[in-house]
Amino acid sequence: MRFNSNLTVSGHLSMQFINNQPVILHRLNQKAVRASLGLMKFLDMFRKPCDFKYLECKEAIPDAEKKTLELMRIGFLVPENMDEEKIWLKKENRLAGKKKFQTRHFCVYYSGIEPYLARNFTDFMEEIYHLLLIKLFPPIAKRSIIYICRDRKELKSLWGDAPLPDHVKTFVTRGRILVVDPEMVVATRHGVAPVGHMTHEMAHIFLCQAKVNLPVWMTEGLCEYHSRLYNHELFLELAKLKGAHSFQQIEADARHSLFDMDDGPDESNVPYRQSESFVHYLAVISGEKKMMDIILKTGLSRDFRTVFEKEMGLSIDEAEQGWLEEMEMH
Ligand SMILES: [Zn+2]
Repeated sequence: MRFNSNLTVSGHLSMQFINNQPVILHRLNQKAVRASLGLMKFLDMFRKPCDFKYLECKEAIPDAEKKTLELMRIGFLVPENMDEEKIWLKKENRLAGKKKFQTRHFCVYYSGIEPYLARNFTDFMEEIYHLLLIKLFPPIAKRSIIYICRDRKELKSLWGDAPLPDHVKTFVTRGRILVVDPEMVVATRHGVAPVGHMTHEMAHIFLCQAKVNLPVWMTEGLCEYHSRLYNHELFLELAKLKGAHSFQQIEADARHSLFDMDDGPDESNVPYRQSESFVHYLAVISGEKKMMDIILKTGLSRDFRTVFEKEMGLSIDEAEQGWLEEMEMH
């Protein structure tokens, strides 16, 4: 095999435990490899697409070429121009009967609605894309996919096994596919566009494409941070009423999404609201730009807790303590 194009790390790798052993799992093809720091660091070298020929310090890595070929064979490293998510949609037979068009930043698949509605919704998403660029998110190299479902049943089939709460009208799957209820598309046309909701979902795509490694509360809190006005008084009332969780506990218990812990709608959902509150606190103590730098420095071999502590000289648990004390002062 030759290295004909730039290689990059797949956007679908995650750390898991199988039989108490840490492994890196490819969530689309289910292949798993035993995790070691050396392997994670090696994969992180390909976070930004690069040509194997010019791979930095490859002479210092034993069998670098053999390792690269093996990681390509199992789909952990892929050619830069490969569209993993489109291949997945095809394999799942989800593109049959769908109409398609492209705009500058989106590739859109839809069925069951008029073309002008799909187009109108996509223009709205283009505006949101730009809104997030202004908020320090790095541009996305590849077009994101908008997948407008025929009906609620199709939406549910993409959500997975967990129950789908009624108020969920859109979500991101496989890191780059924005799945949308047709009701949402029609609402957008009628001027009741849920800007906050869609900004939240788009922020998810930006974070996945940047291949960052964040705990679930940081991801959700950051998406909330950028998509709505924070109301500290309302949060304090809610926290008093329902009680907050520790962030370690959220990391352990939220398997599918934060809804695993509280399936209440947005306004009264404790894990969402406390994640948002904590991200606001982190942004104040670190500064918005520094917080984004820390996020973008994470990767398979460097998780958010580790990078945050190194850059800030303060652990997340200590920051959490500070956040709790600040709440008690009110
Ligand atoms: Zn979310």
